[in-house]
Amino acid sequence: MIPDFNLADIDLLKAFLDQPRKLVVTTHHRPDGDAMGSSLALGAFLERKGHQVSVVTPSDYPDFLLWMPGQHMVTSFDQEPNKCLDAIRDAEGLFCLDFNTPSRTEKLANAITQCTALKVMVDHHLDPAPFCDITFSFNKSCATSELVFHLIDKLDSVDSINSAMATCLYTGIMTDTGSFRFSSMTADTHSIIAKLIQCGASNHEIHEQIYDNFSIDRTRFLGFCINEKLHVLPEYRTAYIAISHSELDQFNHQAGDTEGIVNFALGIKGIRLAAFFCERDGMIKISFRSKGDFSVKELSSMYFSGGGHTNAAGGKSHDSLEDTVKRFVEILPNYCEHLEP
Ligand code: 5GP
Ligand code: MN
Repeated sequence: MIPDFNLADIDLLKAFLDQPRKLVVTTHHRPDGDAMGSSLALGAFLERKGHQVSVVTPSDYPDFLLWMPGQHMVTSFDQEPNKCLDAIRDAEGLFCLDFNTPSRTEKLANAITQCTALKVMVDHHLDPAPFCDITFSFNKSCATSELVFHLIDKLDSVDSINSAMATCLYTGIMTDTGSFRFSSMTADTHSIIAKLIQCGASNHEIHEQIYDNFSIDRTRFLGFCINEKLHVLPEYRTAYIAISHSELDQFNHQAGDTEGIVNFALGIKGIRLAAFFCERDGMIKISFRSKGDFSVKELSSMYFSGGGHTNAAGGKSHDSLEDTVKRFVEILPNYCEHLEP
């Protein structure tokens, strides 16, 4: 289904982009494949239209995304904070991709809130905060990259998608749909994927870059998580993994190394709820995943200051790792009707 973009907003954006502009595309903290894919594709589209484009990320992103075309546009706040803040301050247009509230950008949140540029949100999370002039928010969409595909079509035509843009959009849809397998993946999305391959996305190369590109340390870390840190609570059809800072250090942790590990807990037969707790940046960061209609977004926003989607959400805790896990286990009885076998 094509999202019903507000046509007045599309016209407003078209008129705004009618002359060369200074534009910033930004996304959430610790960008993932969809965050980078959608940002780099939209950035490339805007650059080809003659605009000056910076893609500003609130933090570094994993090595397995560094091959994506368009890196020349990117500045990371971890590397060049002042350059990022200057770019946002001087922007005439600010595109906010794959997040629904400024706090998801952590250290860029104030700059984004105070920025006087025309702000445009393109996102697929529930509950968009009203901080943009134009809000393209469609939570039925499987990925922000899918929305960028449609937005490019509305602003111009899908024929303007070159192979670099197609590669980025394919990557974003692939990573946010668990390689095209979640319920968010529709027949229409498969048609978009077919179109992206026609436009030059090389499917086997993209899969290899993302999924067959782990360091030895990361592969051993995965083994450690599964072999030594996996806890299963069959009475609540729940499985979780909790990792301390020193355990991350033991495996020479790099950005992105913990990505996807929660899915191994969810992959156990009968498990409905999986969680991955990780001591990082002076707090506990949590990833939640579920099968079926159990909403981890609700659990995460209710107990762990988080949010996300029904089957994939994240949150945080400022308690110790042990206390956070204890609190998690203690709230499970509240969900017994969903979780008990
Ligand atoms: P992940 O577990 O892969 O980091 O995130 C899964 C989903 O939850 C993503 O859609 C992400 O945007 C969302 N998410 C992750 N962490 C947070 C958080 O701290 N707050 C909110 N609101 N959403 C989060
Ligand atoms: Mn996304």
